[in-house]
Amino acid sequence: MVRSEAVHKSYGLVEVLKGIDLEVKQGEVFCLVGPSGSGKSTFLRCINHLEKVNGGRLYVDGELVGYREKGDRLYELKDREVALKRRDIGMVFQRFNLFPHMTALENVVEAPVQVKKESKADARERGMQLLERVGLAEKAKSYPAQLSGGQQQRVAIARALAMKPKLMLFDEPTSALDPELVGEVLDVMRGLAEEGMTMIVVTHEMGFAREVGDALVFMDGGVVVESGHPREVLTNPQHERTRAFLSKVL
Ligand code: ATP
Ligand code: MG
Repeated sequence: MVRSEAVHKSYGLVEVLKGIDLEVKQGEVFCLVGPSGSGKSTFLRCINHLEKVNGGRLYVDGELVGYREKGDRLYELKDREVALKRRDIGMVFQRFNLFPHMTALENVVEAPVQVKKESKADARERGMQLLERVGLAEKAKSYPAQLSGGQQQRVAIARALAMKPKLMLFDEPTSALDPELVGEVLDVMRGLAEEGMTMIVVTHEMGFAREVGDALVFMDGGVVVESGHPREVLTNPQHERTRAFLSKVL
């Protein structure tokens, strides 16, 4: 579903991603961990067309991200083409960025109606199903400020799912939450995983990685230091840097 071949990304002279090679298979829960500043968010942003890679090749569902290949030359995609591709990828951020002036249900139906031009009635019906799925049907008419952080984050997941994405990206979805609210969000993510959604999850929740993850990559300084099955990497890390990191978060 995602293939990264020697992906490089720089901001000015600062190289943040220094050749990322990895593959995320269809239906996999792929966990990405690493210290602050290692490039995890940047990598997700590249996958989601929020940043353009400036070296290597990044593919989502077999298609090159951000560029068109013609012979051995690359041409940047137009904004319109990028917008079309971004529809297929859902993203959930650390900070619940719901529209504050819209109810939970309005947040969920906004994109299907505005972007995909679905009828309001259809979008609302599906929106209610999605809110039910994240356990928030009774909060459909609540505004974000009336919801807990965990509830807001579950609405954010429902909103991403409303676009029927083929890939979901999670960037530390629980790290801004009070500890007692983390579980309800992870439970929703676990349910999604069980339904076969392909997910890339940046997280410090090693319990989740161990139980739900199919693969785990440890990144540091813009490179992949170590990868493998979560249980293997977490119980038997091969690199000193991985060990040092895990000793802090476990
Ligand atoms: P964290 O765990 O703190 O979220 P991260 O692994 O997600 O860290 P990134 O946010 O990807 O790290 O940042 C990697 C590096 O790139 C950092 O040194 C950051 O300062 C730098 N960086 C990120 N975005 C930009 C930008 N828009 N312009 C310049 N530098 C940036
Ligand atoms: Mg980050």
